[in-house]
Amino acid sequence: MKTMRYWSVRHARGLHWLYQGLETLLVFLHPVLNWVGYERLETPFSRLESAVKGLLFDSQSCGQCTLGNTGMACPMNCPKTLRNGPCGGVRADGGCEIQPEMTCVWVTAWEGSQKLGNQESTIQIIQPPLDVRNKGTSAWLRATRKKVAENHAV
Ligand code: SF4
Repeated sequence: MKTMRYWSVRHARGLHWLYQGLETLLVFLHPVLNWVGYERLETPFSRLESAVKGLLFDSQSCGQCTLGNTGMACPMNCPKTLRNGPCGGVRADGGCEIQPEMTCVWVTAWEGSQKLGNQESTIQIIQPPLDVRNKGTSAWLRATRKKVAENHAV
């Protein structure tokens, strides 16, 4: 739903803080998650994540979430699925080249990134190509395991 998508971008800062809190909690709970088994948790987590992100961001559940770097705007809503945008076709009024009734996803991503304060430069990070094997999997669990590995490496 575009209304919720735009609301989320307008409230990017609060939602980003909320996500950081969730990530901190999941990292703290890593021993429990590990004991239960990440594989076993994959289905319930991916379903919950898909419902929450679908409602707030029109997420396409790519499993390779960039929301924190794209002003809480999901780049998978771009008709060209550009993960590094925008394309050259953005209209003068900010509309999408392919779907003129929609504001270009990268215009909203830029607006959201401005609300993230010192996080705004993250929108300039070049995103790697989409790994389609991650589709439908939990980006939350993947991010948790990555963070735990990084903490252990320090
Ligand atoms: S105008 Fe924006 S949303 Fe539309 S195809 Fe180009 S980059 Fe994607």
